[in-house]
This record gives sequence, structure tokens and C-alpha cells, in this order.
Amino acid sequence: AIDFKWIRDNRDAVVTNIMNRKSSADLEVVIELYERMCSLQKEVERLRGERNVVANKMKGKLEPSERLQLIDEGKRLKDALVNLEEDLVQLTDKLQQEAQCIPNMTHPDVPIGGEDCSALRRMVGTPPEFGFAIKDHLQLGKELDLLDFDAAAEVSGSKFYYLKNEAVLLEMALTNWAISEVMRKGFTPLTTPEIVRSSVVEKCGFQPRGTNTQVYSIEGSDQCLIGTAEIPVGGIHMDSILPDSVLPLKYVAYSHCFRTEAGAAGSATRGLYRVHQFSKVEMFILCRPEDSDSYLEELIQIEEDLFSSLGLHFKTLDMASEDLGAPAYRKFDIEAWMPGLGRYGEISSASNCLDYQSRRLGIRYRPSAEPSPNLKKGKANLGPTQFVHTLNATACAVPRMIVCLLENFQQEDGSIIIPEVLRPFMGGLECIRLD
Ligand code: AMP
Repeated sequence: AIDFKWIRDNRDAVVTNIMNRKSSADLEVVIELYERMCSLQKEVERLRGERNVVANKMKGKLEPSERLQLIDEGKRLKDALVNLEEDLVQLTDKLQQEAQCIPNMTHPDVPIGGEDCSALRRMVGTPPEFGFAIKDHLQLGKELDLLDFDAAAEVSGSKFYYLKNEAVLLEMALTNWAISEVMRKGFTPLTTPEIVRSSVVEKCGFQPRGTNTQVYSIEGSDQCLIGTAEIPVGGIHMDSILPDSVLPLKYVAYSHCFRTEAGAAGSATRGLYRVHQFSKVEMFILCRPEDSDSYLEELIQIEEDLFSSLGLHFKTLDMASEDLGAPAYRKFDIEAWMPGLGRYGEISSASNCLDYQSRRLGIRYRPSAEPSPNLKKGKANLGPTQFVHTLNATACAVPRMIVCLLENFQQEDGSIIIPEVLRPFMGGLECIRLD
């Protein structure tokens, strides 16, 4: 249920938005297809009307010659309708396909431009000071026997890894800790399917096809591996009308994520920073439209609390227009200090998608209306439905979190101090060291 009429009526604003976000969407093609679809729909309606007139006439008393004439006319209309209806289905498919690329509109406070234009919202902590020569997570991982990229390269290819020994416990601890912290805020835990239909990927605003796609498709099927739990969680209420009373729905989902990382060459690609498969704990909210701004604040607060309690130094950024994915109306990223990399690296991202995903996924709710005095007793007071708003945010993306923990909490003797909040999830382990 993309609102094509709105898009056409707000053409200038949509074109500016597409340019501000450096999107490849072609609005002119979409509008032309939409207008062709509207006139085809009118023609189909007109022919259906004519067919009904003929059918009604056939019910009356007729001369044989008149009846034959009407039969011919009915057949002609039926054939024409079959052809037009087929054209309409094809045109509608094409329109949907083209329109998938049109990005969400952008919050007026979002800085316009590339990543460098993103606005600093908050800085927490300070970078750790080391009185010794520091190592990066690759070296630490090797020396402490925590990571194996070589075997993974043989078995799977580049950008895969084995976690070993305490790194495995660290992954489990990070995910269990993140899930339990977020559950304490009233979120419902989920594990999700990790293979989904391509159509659901598209409806969430991701592109499952094309040369630059981030999505792994399964050959010979219409299914893909998920790049984030946002997709199966977004799909969980697909094509439904939710009662007002269940909103907001807050989920915290654990899943593996699979990404081709096409086009990522040149960026930080070594080690765990950018890999093809990783575990992630993701938050997802479905809410009433008027509440989505404040839930975005809540999600950012949860993220900041999580990363502060691990003892990380980070900054929160209001991301600039060109860095927003198609579904996001506004996005806040958190970048943590990674001493081995010698720079800040993104560890989480929180987005408000307004009704961009819910329109495509068909997720509505029925606002509870004041009981009408004219309503007959026993009749439900059903007001019109509206699309919910959706938001998503990272609670814990494991590999970059491991990069942060190894690099920030390394000691001169090569050991790693485990943050206190994780220790109960690691059997009380306080430190990773070679025995
Ligand atoms: P995104 O869903 O793209 O906003 O990513 C959410 C978080 O997952 C990011 O903030 C990163 O911490 C992490 N992440 C994204 N892509 C990768 C990758 N290829 N390898 C490791 N972590 C990633």
C-alpha cells in the first residue's frame, strides 16, 4: 500500500528528498507507471460497467437477433477485459518494483550530506590510555587463541571466522546479557527464521536483487538469508490489523545475520570488523504514529546504557541524509573507540521508519474511537484503520563488540579484563589470559 497519490502530489519534495539521500530511485518512471495504471484501471472499470449492462439486458425479453447481438457484444467485452486485466497486473508489478527503491522521506532536522556531515549528539567517556604498545584484536585474538581466520578462509572463504575458547563464551555472554537487559525494559524475546521470502525482504525496504545487493539469495528458490532480524520481526505481523490495546509491541530478537558486503572493499575489512556472518541482538518496536519519535529516544537510551555499562567510550551521531538506508526517516548511529583500529567504528544503529515498512508489509491497527452516542447497542465501534510505525535498533552486534572488548580492555601482560556486567554470564570469569 505505497501511497502513490501522495508521491505524485508531492513530486518536488520527493525529488529533493531522493537527491538529498543520493538515492538511485527514478521518480519520473514511477509517476508515469502510476498514471498509466490509473488510466488502465478506469478503462477496466468502464468495460466492467458495459459488461454488466449487457448482462442485465440479457435477463430481459429479447428477439433472437437481439440476443445473438448481445452475446457477441458480451464476448467482445469479456476478451477485452481479460487482456486489460492481464496488462494491469503486469503494470502494477512493474510499478511496485520501481517504487521499492524510493526512499522514505527525511526528518527535517537530519543534516543533509554525506557521512561527514552527521551531527554529534552525545559523547560518553574518554579513550583509554595505555602505558604500553597496544595490539589490535587480530593479534590479541591470535595470541590468546580466540580467533581463527585462516581455517575459516579455507572452509568458507574470506571474511569468515571461527571463535575459540573464551571468545565463544564471550559471544554467548554478550547475547545473553543484552537480551536480559532489554527484556527488563519490557521487550518480548524472539529467535527468528533466518531464511525468509525475498518479498518480505523487499517489503522491509531492502533490495534482494541487483549487482550491489547485500542479500544472499538461495538459488532456485524465492528465499534469502537474513541480513538482520529486523526482516523476520517486521514480517511477524504482516497483513494484519492489530488491536489498539496491544501497542506498542516491543521485541528483542536474536539471530545470525548474513551480508555479502558487496561494495565494501577498501573500508575496514580486516578481522572481525566486517564479516559475512555474525550474531546480533536487535530491538524492534511497532507503535502508534504519534509515539514513534519518543520510542526512537527510548531505543537510543537503551543502547547508550548498554554500552556505558560495558565501560566503552563512544559517541552518538544523528546520521546525515546520504547515510540513511531507504526505510529510515531518521537514524542515530553509535560509534565506539577501537584503539587497535585507531578510530571510532560503528557498533549500533537505531532507526525510525515511520509507516514505510508497515505500508509495504500491510501492518495496520485500529485506533480505539470514543463510543459514538448513535451506535446501536451490541455493535462494535469500528473506526478506520491506520498503519503502525516501526523502529529498529541494535542492542548488541557481537563481532564489533568483541573488537571493542579485546582492544579497549587489553592489559600490558596481553590479558583481557572482562567487563563486570558480563562476568555472571561467563561463570564468573574475570580475565582472559594464556595459562
Ligand atoms: P545495520 O543493520 O547495518 O545498521 O547494522 C547493525 C550493526 O551490525 C552495525 O552497527 C554493526 O555493529 C554491525 N554490523 C553491520 N555489518 C556488519 C558486518 N558485515 N560485520 C560485522 N558487524 C556488522
